[in-house]
Amino acid sequence: MPGAPLERSFIDELDRDIHSSSASSTAVFAPFTGERIHDLPVSTTEDVTDAAARARAAQSRWYAAGFDHRRRVLLRAHDLLLERRELLIDALQTETGKTRGQAFEEVFIGASTTRYYAVSAKSVLRPRSRRAGIPLVVRTRVGYRPKGVVGVITPWNYPLSLSLFDVIPALAAGNGVVQKADNQGALSILAGRRAFIDAGVPAELWAVVAGDGNEIGNAVVDAADYVCFTGSTATGKKVAERAATTLTAASLELGGKNPMIVLDDVDPQKAARNAVYACYASLGQLCVSIERIYVQRGIAEAFTKEFVARTAALVQGPAFDFTTDVGSLTLPSQLERVQAHVADAVAKGATVLTGGKPRPDLGPLFFEPTVLAHVTDDMDCSRTETFGPVVAITVVDTADEAIAAANDSQFGLNAAVFGGSIRRARRVAHLIDAGSININEGYRATFSSVDAPMGGMKQSGIGRRNGREGILRFVDARTVAGATGLMTLPRTGAEFAKLSGLMIVLLIALKAIRRR
Ligand code: NAD
Repeated sequence: MPGAPLERSFIDELDRDIHSSSASSTAVFAPFTGERIHDLPVSTTEDVTDAAARARAAQSRWYAAGFDHRRRVLLRAHDLLLERRELLIDALQTETGKTRGQAFEEVFIGASTTRYYAVSAKSVLRPRSRRAGIPLVVRTRVGYRPKGVVGVITPWNYPLSLSLFDVIPALAAGNGVVQKADNQGALSILAGRRAFIDAGVPAELWAVVAGDGNEIGNAVVDAADYVCFTGSTATGKKVAERAATTLTAASLELGGKNPMIVLDDVDPQKAARNAVYACYASLGQLCVSIERIYVQRGIAEAFTKEFVARTAALVQGPAFDFTTDVGSLTLPSQLERVQAHVADAVAKGATVLTGGKPRPDLGPLFFEPTVLAHVTDDMDCSRTETFGPVVAITVVDTADEAIAAANDSQFGLNAAVFGGSIRRARRVAHLIDAGSININEGYRATFSSVDAPMGGMKQSGIGRRNGREGILRFVDARTVAGATGLMTLPRTGAEFAKLSGLMIVLLIALKAIRRR
């Protein structure tokens, strides 16, 4: 059964879930057709403050209900996400213009994240004994307390999965959430959120607000006890500055200019076939998407020929079924940016191996998957993120040259290495400055590994989502230690005189047995 754009009556229902008291709204348009989808209600800064106060009140009950309750609710929500997957995929396609396959991936990763934190939160966060400073004399335990209300700010490109990457561990740890949705992704978030509310998450515990990025984004940062931001590096810096004024901690998941290295011991045809998906999924509007390929000379010709042929053969269009490989760009500003990068590169001498043009015959925001060669440092697309379907292939002589080129960037989010020998590929991977590195895959190996941390080096971000690291962001560690009464610690000069020798012997003994 093919899907369809979301129905008007359901959109109206979802719009009512935005925490908004104002009569204002903002128009949101469908990428596939350019038609108006809805007028999204806009929140005020007072709405954000109010949402945070309500979430804070709900949070103390949610935290008190304990891990086992939260686990039950989240596992129920997981099942509802799966039951409602077709509707969620429809929402994602309606708002982002991605293919059904790539919308399906969002639901898959969202459900994985929900299951993962439902099952693992307790084991990561339960209080544990730690080594006491003075064995037998002191007993030490560490526990974790939720931050309170977590502010989550999300972009439009992966509205459901990127939300759940942050919201679920925040909830699993016992927090409330106030989320600022990007206007273009709000319906997908609200449709996903309904599964959680219906499963038993109190509605006020997870509030969604919308509106102007600066105004509402700032209000969320001001109201939160911890901030999770996903978006561009430029905005991430503003969020970090704002959060610093109240010493509010933040994790920042930002942009990239992700490289792929293709080593000369790989099967070039096979590598090219896998590389294509890594570059053009969601038409390159994905933070971990590959935009630079460095291929070793020995296989460059064969690899490039196959890569270009496979790229040119991608089926593009506005389908609500699985008949297309790539979809549309999401926003007019994206089309402008992609066109500007290609025009600048061509004007400065780059060669277009395939693509390079918009496809207004398919819809207003379609642009062909594009491969460029002879890209030089003076071109905009060489160092700044295109965030679109534009990939530069560069031939290099050695693996070392490829590594140096890959690392010559202000970013360090994701990377890929294709190689015949896994051991050699791993050695190369080890030398790349990036938070995630995929071997013989573009991004999905790391992106799907929800037990492993994900995040950026350099200007690609601060902090990590997923894995233990992803939930430890949302708690404060608290140490509770006390005397056992076996011996009193020295207090007076006379007591130190009596016990200091014994304490030195203790230090020597602890080192001898290599006690931590
Ligand atoms: P953006 O920075 O323009 O917007 C992101 C969100 O921040 C939106 O909700 C926006 O309304 C809000 N915002 C805008 N100004 C704000 C402010 N002053 N304070 C607080 N919030 C504000 O980014 P975008 O164009 O929506 O997304 C694309 C960018 O996001 C790309 O650079 C991409 O690489 C990056 N991204 C990174 C990851 C990651 O995990 N590292 C994932 C997806 C996207």
